[in-house]
Amino acid sequence: MRRRKSGSKLIRLIEFILFGALIFSLSNMIMAQAKIMKVKSENSKLTQAIDEIKNSNEKLTEKNEVLQTTIIEKKDLYAEKMKDVKIAYLTFDDGPSKNTLDILKVLKDYNVKATFFVNGHKSLTHLYKKIAKDGHAIANHTYSHDYPTIYKSVANFKNDVKKLDSFITEITGNEPNHILRYPGGSNNTISRKHGGKNIMKDILKAMDEEGYVYFDWNVDSTDASKYRQDKDKIVSSVLSQSKRARNGKAVILMHDLGPKITTVQALPEIITGLREQGFIFDVISKDTYKTQFTKIK
Ligand SMILES: [Zn+2]
Repeated sequence: MRRRKSGSKLIRLIEFILFGALIFSLSNMIMAQAKIMKVKSENSKLTQAIDEIKNSNEKLTEKNEVLQTTIIEKKDLYAEKMKDVKIAYLTFDDGPSKNTLDILKVLKDYNVKATFFVNGHKSLTHLYKKIAKDGHAIANHTYSHDYPTIYKSVANFKNDVKKLDSFITEITGNEPNHILRYPGGSNNTISRKHGGKNIMKDILKAMDEEGYVYFDWNVDSTDASKYRQDKDKIVSSVLSQSKRARNGKAVILMHDLGPKITTVQALPEIITGLREQGFIFDVISKDTYKTQFTKIK
């Protein structure tokens, strides 16, 4: 009798344990099911969000394509319009000098911006500052302008150009614009004496690889033909050559050097005469029509 009692107790205990285990696993299953449902719903939300992003992305791509086409069309239109615009680029080589302030005064009076292809003159830092402050472009004409040094080797030339870049940046705070004019022009033959017959070709290639764009000229003021050229000769040279300048773009060579007083005196008539011919004035940038005597490629 006692044994039976204790036997049924054991069975009830086992039943209880089994029932507990069943409840436990059932509740686990329900919880797992709920988790799955939650993940599924999150997943479908994410899929929906992805679809929306894909959609808007497609729309943006379409818009972008339309914009790109518009930009290209506008650029073409601008280039087409600028083709007919006559632009004069006054350029002054070899400065600064004792004439720089006088040149700047005329340019200011006539509201014209110019490009100064300067060299390195340690004692004239105030003039570089003034040129930059007045809104003119300062471009590279090598630090030393010394033919035997700069045209001796590619490395010499590069060093001299970089030396001027650092010098100008230190004074004006402006980063180099990588616009260059070769002393004597890109087609000079003097360089051969110092660096051999291929020296210009090698330098042109090397500087192009360094990201420099160089500009010769298509209008020569002739102020370097004599120690002091006649003022009227400078005016007539500039005005007659500009009239024939290709594409209506005149890159005018002048000098900012002590003896070149007649260049300063000629400036007002040059500016007035060019305006009468329909020219506007601009500074040289990398996009400027390239007057180059020697092509690199
Ligand atoms: Zn020069």
